[in-house]
Amino acid sequence: MYKINENYLKLQDNYLFSTIAKKLEEYKSKNPDKEIIKMGIGDVTRPISPSIIEAMHKAVDEMKNKDTFRGYGPEQGYSFLREKISKCDYKARGINIEEDEIFVSDGAKCDVANILDILGNENKVAITDPVYPVYLDTNVMIGTAGNFNKEKGTYDNIVYVPIKAENNFVPELPKEKVNIIYLCLPNNPTGTVLNKEELKRWVDYAKDNEALILFDSAYERYITEANIPHSIYEISGAKEVAIEFRSFSKTAGFTGIRCAYTVVPKELKAKTSSGEYVLLNKLWNRRMSTKFNGVSYITQRAAESVYSESGQREIKENIDYYMENAKIIREGLKKSGFVVYGGINAPYIWLKVPEGLTSWEFFDKLLEKKQIVGTPGVGFGPSGEGYFRLTAFGTRENTIKAMERISINTQELK
Ligand code: PLP
Repeated sequence: MYKINENYLKLQDNYLFSTIAKKLEEYKSKNPDKEIIKMGIGDVTRPISPSIIEAMHKAVDEMKNKDTFRGYGPEQGYSFLREKISKCDYKARGINIEEDEIFVSDGAKCDVANILDILGNENKVAITDPVYPVYLDTNVMIGTAGNFNKEKGTYDNIVYVPIKAENNFVPELPKEKVNIIYLCLPNNPTGTVLNKEELKRWVDYAKDNEALILFDSAYERYITEANIPHSIYEISGAKEVAIEFRSFSKTAGFTGIRCAYTVVPKELKAKTSSGEYVLLNKLWNRRMSTKFNGVSYITQRAAESVYSESGQREIKENIDYYMENAKIIREGLKKSGFVVYGGINAPYIWLKVPEGLTSWEFFDKLLEKKQIVGTPGVGFGPSGEGYFRLTAFGTRENTIKAMERISINTQELK
């Protein structure tokens, strides 16, 4: 009999979104006349802006002409896009990232998962808790996570680094030695960030311990405050210890179009078991050339147009729209007596559920009493218990309406 990767059997069913959907359906069937406001979604809702649509149309037209038709493209991405990324996302910020350190892909989710191809399964991995669930599950899949401990709700071989109100959402350096660290900043789900000094401590830790930081900055465009790093490479020495993942999904509304990129600096060197140094850039390049066909030409032209003057203006308008929603949610919740975090540098608002309630109990109350759907914090990791995520990706009208509903008879939620 053939064998399967039995690590997959160690994955915990992610009941989070299916349970939410089930509860919602049940509620709807019992209350067909009630209007429900969805604030649980982590997907953008604003349509693609005109400059991007125009660039795509133009690229489609090129495909019908024999002189401009494109077949297989470079697996690492077209130079026209990598050059723009290097110039606008890095060099403009004083960071020297070259074109050949940038790898264009169809998603940060895929890259965050696929990077484990070149890292293998013998690392001690640290993951902040709560966090985007893909980091944990992909480590379970390759066997680094160990067994699941039902009582604790954690995997035996993963080092969980809590981020919660008690530590001001600043993760403490692990007490035990780890060699891979996932950092998601601005954070999904908490919406919180680290300043340069706080992030530097992690870069220094990685240097001192020969560890690698996997830095997911999918939400960097949502940062509004100064002194919050958009890229880990703003911290000196980070090019020797960090890979950075970025995406056009939340930046430019590409969740359906699909385009992202990963930066693997040439300073990154890993040591083999026989003590030789190898460049991670070379390994990732090989991995992409072998297992990936590149992102479509049309999509890359769309991504390129994001960097045009009009493209930048248009994506900013959309981000500003979401961030105004975030402000309305933050202020609305505060006025109603809730303790809130995030929402200033990210489209996520993380609220403390009222004393004595679990995050799922709060979910039920919010649905039943206010017809609002959000996401229970515990679904993002054990330290998310007692918290709840609302997203700013809805319409302005619904965001305002939701805060009004919460402000009237707020005690029903406590
Ligand atoms: N990283 C984080 C932290 C996310 O929250 C998400 C999507 O929700 C992604 C990555 C996925 O990005 P992409 O759409 O490029 O795969």
